[in-house]
Amino acid sequence: MNFDFSQEEEDFIKEVRNFIKEEKLKDNAEIVFAPNREADATTKVDSAPRRAFMKELAKKGYLGMSWPKKYGGQEKDGIYDYLLNEELATVGAPAPGKGVGSIGQTIIRHCSEKLKKEFLPQILNADIEFALGYSEPGAGSDLASLKLKAEKKEGGWLINGQKTWTSSAHFAEWYWLAARTGPDQPKHKGISVFLVPMDDPGIEVHPIETMGEHHTNGVFLTDVFVPDEYVVGEVNKGWIYICEALNYERFTFYTIGPLENKFENLLELVNNLKRDGKTLKEFPEVKNKIIELAIDVEKAKVLQRKVLSVAIKDEVPSVEAAIFKLFSTQLSQKMANTAMDILGREGLFHKDGKDAIAEGKWEWSYRGTVVDTIGAGTSEIQKNTIAKKALELPL
Ligand SMILES: Cc1cc2nc3c(=O)[nH]c(=O)nc-3n(C[C@H](O)[C@H](O)[C@H](O)COP(=O)(O)OP(=O)(O)OC[C@H]3O[C@@H](n4cnc5c(N)ncnc54)[C@H](O)[C@@H]3O)c2cc1C
Repeated sequence: MNFDFSQEEEDFIKEVRNFIKEEKLKDNAEIVFAPNREADATTKVDSAPRRAFMKELAKKGYLGMSWPKKYGGQEKDGIYDYLLNEELATVGAPAPGKGVGSIGQTIIRHCSEKLKKEFLPQILNADIEFALGYSEPGAGSDLASLKLKAEKKEGGWLINGQKTWTSSAHFAEWYWLAARTGPDQPKHKGISVFLVPMDDPGIEVHPIETMGEHHTNGVFLTDVFVPDEYVVGEVNKGWIYICEALNYERFTFYTIGPLENKFENLLELVNNLKRDGKTLKEFPEVKNKIIELAIDVEKAKVLQRKVLSVAIKDEVPSVEAAIFKLFSTQLSQKMANTAMDILGREGLFHKDGKDAIAEGKWEWSYRGTVVDTIGAGTSEIQKNTIAKKALELPL
């Protein structure tokens, strides 16, 4: 068994680290690179610095590395997308988003030449960003129950209804939107995906702030007309495209660097902070908790490598990804809980508060990690996947 990267992959990591070093010298670096930032960096960082950084990634050829050459990619193995994401996540930088991931790859695979010509170059140049409009007030885990109404009209579709939890809707140019086009079909077979400009006058975006400070949105659509050519692939095949996303994102979704960083930060605090004249590490109960966390971080690393080992074989790591997502997000919560328990009064202080330990990182983490176990499939849904696909247990 060998967990090491190849020489070429190591060279790539070195190259990305040098790129990051240069970028850190620029104005706005403290906005772009913020390892203490708990909420998803892609949605939280101010739009202008994030976009400038994405442009630099584009210039370096880091966007769409695994895309076919025909569409501006480099046909590199997906592992390079993973390595890039891991390095960026480790330094708290925004990562290339859904555009080069599931959206770009679905356009390549299923869309007309017109849509390919319009969207793919803009994605590779980091000219546009997307919001993902799947969840609705009555359709989250059971996404196939979505109700957003799309009625057939001459030359296109008229869309009316509501989406919720749409991250990025407050800055994205395009909405990747799932709606019900076949109300009389079985629920999985009556969904289509549309590409809709976010500046359509029929779209209203209302902010929703989560307890972890992840900015997401409610989106209301009134008589939004979408021409036929902006339907993704075929009408009523949307569910297939939605389900393929894990295949397209199998290399990029699951980073481990932020978890390792947090553990190192906690370890440093335990080694240096004092209580009642003793450093925290001298208390046996603190030491025990830290050892447990150290072992859990190693477990998470191995589980993440299992995801990669399946992805590298060009297979979809659905069970492995579910196990890693469940374990690592629960571990983030456990780590934040442990920090709250052992850091004392100042550990509870908000990041804007005077005297907050580690700039309030742990209090933010305590709130922020709750959200991690909900987005991209809740813990219960991950357990369902494991039950059904790996253990043949009833749901
Ligand atoms: C910060 C954040 C950002 C998000 N960004 C986006 C986005 O950009 N675009 C988008 O479309 N969505 C987004 N989401 C939505 C996210 O995908 C949903 O919140 C998630 O899928 C859960 O759906 P729900 O909130 O409707 O909860 P529900 O599905 O109503 O679940 C409620 C509870 O019931 C449990 N449950 C549900 N079904 C089952 C079952 N079959 N078995 C066992 N337990 C079950 C769940 O685990 C959960 O505990 C975001 C969510 C968050 C929190």
